Amino acid sequence: MNSPIPNLDTSPRGAFASLVPPVWRASTVVFDSLDDFVNRRTRLPDGFSYGTTGTPTQRALETRIAELDGAAHCVVFPSGQAAICSALLALLKKGDHLLMTDAAYGLAKSFAVERLQALGIEVEFYPPRIGAEIERLVRPNTRLIWLESPGTVTMEVEDVPAITALARTRGVLTAIDNTWASPLGFAALAHGVDLCIHACTKYMGGHSDVLMGSIATNDEGLYKSLRGLQSQMGLAVSPEDCFLVARGLDTMQVRMERQATSAQLIAERLATHRLVRRMLFPALPGAPDHALWARDFKQSGCVMSLQLVDGPYDAYRALFGHLKLFSIGASWGGVRSIAAFYPAEELAKRNFCDVQGPVIRLSIGLDDPQALLDELLGALSACETSFNL
Ligand SMILES: *Cc1c(COP(=O)(O)O)cnc(C)c1O
Repeated sequence: MNSPIPNLDTSPRGAFASLVPPVWRASTVVFDSLDDFVNRRTRLPDGFSYGTTGTPTQRALETRIAELDGAAHCVVFPSGQAAICSALLALLKKGDHLLMTDAAYGLAKSFAVERLQALGIEVEFYPPRIGAEIERLVRPNTRLIWLESPGTVTMEVEDVPAITALARTRGVLTAIDNTWASPLGFAALAHGVDLCIHACTKYMGGHSDVLMGSIATNDEGLYKSLRGLQSQMGLAVSPEDCFLVARGLDTMQVRMERQATSAQLIAERLATHRLVRRMLFPALPGAPDHALWARDFKQSGCVMSLQLVDGPYDAYRALFGHLKLFSIGASWGGVRSIAAFYPAEELAKRNFCDVQGPVIRLSIGLDDPQALLDELLGALSACETSFNL
């Protein structure tokens, strides 16, 4: 029988060779022989046996992210949150003790509390600035320390080398949500972390149009376990989405450099504004944890949080009402600028948080930084009388 499929040799010698890697779609992978089919699972974790564990488009992306993270292996997942849950499920079992930073991404915390505890895993949150003092919380059954630095919204920087050094001496694994810094800003594995997680949704995708997460590691056993879990949970990643994230990686460095420069300019000016009580942006000299940030990070991110002097909710409503270049929304790291608001009650739920009151979070995109600054200063002065100066 003649195959209707043309020759798919895409090497430069083949009939058609595109500069950009193609998008391969598949549920079914086909095999040359019965033996090949029967032994198909031996192709994993790197090879292909069925669509859920990936396509060449996905593997090419995983290879690029692994290289960026300085890792031997990477598995991508359909969202950052899916990567977080998969890492936790792959590592933890009944009776284990999990130490998680109190400043972790909100859904990571609620997954731990509402799902992992129900599976018989002990969950304990630790103060993000604990450093080597985490030793006093480590128990014989502590299996994993979960880090995120800077922390979500509140931006505490963790002493990662101190925590990973201690974890190693106690045989405890470490994982970090490294989304804020990206692989360009913080080399997590080089600082002793076992698993590095990114929400690729942010800088890697970079255009607010794709959801994805990644886990990179040098541990072969963990890698196999993660690939197995991907298959068991059916966590297939769309090859089109892999294509978009791979395209995002092509420009990530220039986008991030420009966005970080703009963020720095905006943060420096806002820090001097009389309505601004506190800048939470570790790349800013004088901001909390700046010294630790300067010690460990290679480049800044584009997300900052800030607190204003006391004012009613109506004042914030007016302020956000003045924004045009900034869209109001969650997520960050894309080319367009975004503003988000976190009410005081939300942060008050944390156990170890020195940030009281509402927080504004800004994601600085590729817009003209002076125009963004003018908009923010204009919005602040328009609302000035609503705040209690
Ligand atoms: C956005 C984000 C996530 C979740 O990523 P999604 O792809 O939106 O699920 C996890 N951690 C951090 C720090 C994030 O900012």
